[in-house]
Amino acid sequence: MAGTISDADRCPCGSGDRYGTCCGPVLAGTRRAPTAEALMRSRYTAFCVGDVNHLRVSWHSDTRPDELTVDPDIRFLRLVVHDTSGGGPFDASGQVDFTAHYRTESGHRGEQRENSSFTRLDGRWVYVAAL
Ligand SMILES: [Zn+2]
Repeated sequence: MAGTISDADRCPCGSGDRYGTCCGPVLAGTRRAPTAEALMRSRYTAFCVGDVNHLRVSWHSDTRPDELTVDPDIRFLRLVVHDTSGGGPFDASGQVDFTAHYRTESGHRGEQRENSSFTRLDGRWVYVAAL
């Protein structure tokens, strides 16, 4: 849960930065993700720490499911970003191709590869859908 991570910890998204200067402020709502990749990383971190609220506010209202939950049986281990297109500070949309590695409660390891699309609404990046 969100309380178990501190600002000095390495950020779960794998950027190499500390949580307090990486995804932490984005999840807390005190800083906007500057790029689509940064938003995607913050959503991965939200899955890691169970921050359903951040998943909701960073999801386009047209495609957001009514009910959002984080599966407590899945532990995310590692995020690998393969490629990005667009999604920069001067773009209106972007895509991020990534793999999230995870382990289930029963010890099964898996990975989820996704090419996610993002758009910018009122200057704020939001997740739209998996392509
Ligand atoms: Zn991060």
